Amino acid sequence: MNYEAVIGLEVHTQLATRSKLFCSCSNEFGSVQNANICPVCSAQPGVLPVLNARAVRYAVKAALALNCKINPTSIFARKSYFYPDLPKGFQTSQYDRPFSSGGYIDISLPDGTLERIGLTRIHMEEDAGKNIHEGSGSLVDLNRAGAPLIEIVSEPDLRSPEQAVEYLKKLKAILTYIEVSDCNMEQGNFRCDANVSVRKTGEKKLGTKVEIKNMNSFRFIEKALSYEIERQSALLAAGTPIVQETRLFDSDSGTTRSMRRKEEANDYRYFPEPDLQPLIIDERMINELKSEIPELPDAKIERFIGEYSIPRYDAEVIATDKSLAVFYEKLVSVTNDPKLSSNWIMMEVMRVLNDQKISIDDFSVDYRRLGELLLLVIKKEINQQTAKDIFNEMLGSPVRPSEIVDRDSLRQIQDHSFIEKIVDDVLARSQDQVAQFKSGKDKVMGYFVGQVMRQSRGKADPAVVNAILLKKLKE
Ligand code: ADP
Ligand code: ZN
Ligand code: MG
Repeated sequence: MNYEAVIGLEVHTQLATRSKLFCSCSNEFGSVQNANICPVCSAQPGVLPVLNARAVRYAVKAALALNCKINPTSIFARKSYFYPDLPKGFQTSQYDRPFSSGGYIDISLPDGTLERIGLTRIHMEEDAGKNIHEGSGSLVDLNRAGAPLIEIVSEPDLRSPEQAVEYLKKLKAILTYIEVSDCNMEQGNFRCDANVSVRKTGEKKLGTKVEIKNMNSFRFIEKALSYEIERQSALLAAGTPIVQETRLFDSDSGTTRSMRRKEEANDYRYFPEPDLQPLIIDERMINELKSEIPELPDAKIERFIGEYSIPRYDAEVIATDKSLAVFYEKLVSVTNDPKLSSNWIMMEVMRVLNDQKISIDDFSVDYRRLGELLLLVIKKEINQQTAKDIFNEMLGSPVRPSEIVDRDSLRQIQDHSFIEKIVDDVLARSQDQVAQFKSGKDKVMGYFVGQVMRQSRGKADPAVVNAILLKKLKE
């Protein structure tokens, strides 16, 4: 039996405002426990919330960038919980009248086509604090209580764990482009709950879904979904019905386990927040925010493909990170070679960024130095291998590439008569390999090139070496 996965994601993103959603406490990450609290966010009696105008602007900006409809009037609601990290006894959220509905995100599939994933809604809400379990007791840190969040809910339009990750990457790219959130997953500023069900391929009706929580990296989300799809498919194949429930992902075992049966909306006792006015978002604010939205990832990807004639893959990798895209365009302005530049960014630069866990903004080689290095390659003064060695040296020192080339006299040798001499020499003492080549073993070509390169101490231009070798071998 063939089964198809159906996935819908709920993403909580923390807005990068200076203060919290309903009080003026700092919204900064990493302060000492309970340093950023006041009577409002610690739920003292008699206090009143005041809505943070900047948080509203960020939320609306996000909705506009995600092609959503902005609802002119929306209502905050109390969602009842009883947890120590939520001292009010309820979370101030939005329920049946969110500030935004509809919208979509386009993701690209492995075959290069685009798939449009619908959004159901986006609403604003406050974050809870954090319970810290220590020894036999538990402590509560309320620094995060009242932090501004938006929850972005997708339609059940995703069909595989890979698509889910593509969706999240695109969403993260858009939100960071418009600078409403840093989407830092390690700090919990971009959290995803995944809803997943399976059904027989071709079936129209949705299957019973399970919600998976506790995944703080794209890799874990992909793993958890894959595991869950396998688990549900096996149950269905055995004729066992799926139980609607919330499950936790355990990254050590790569499995999910049941946490609680799914709560129903009426368990939350939603009701309109009496302490807050309806939120009115007017045309003027919408137009103002629209005008602040920069070129977004999709538009940049298409422009890169059109303007620089680079493959879609390169454009997507580079344009997903706004700063990297800026770096790339500056690099191309120096080298005038879009493909060589994208290759170097994707291979060498991104390798270093990943190793050092830094962003391009903190990279030790600026676009001018890298551009100078690539120009040496383009002018054939050095070959790619030499360039990589020089690049590695540049990482740890402000030295310019041309200085290294001069210091170590690395300039590539184009001189045909010089290379011809070496080729003659190598062929003369490789009679066996020459015979092999003549009997059709093309593979020994690599051996010849290697010998010539070694004898020239890596400086011969490999293209010239190849040409001369072929000419001589065919004589
Ligand atoms: P709940 O009432 O449990 O919150 P919702 O209908 O509000 O469920 O949907 C929450 C999320 O789950 C959405 O992202 C939605 O796309 C997704 N979803 C809903 N039904 C299914 C299903 N049968 N399979 C997979 N995902 C689903
Ligand atoms: Zn406060
Ligand atoms: Mg729901």
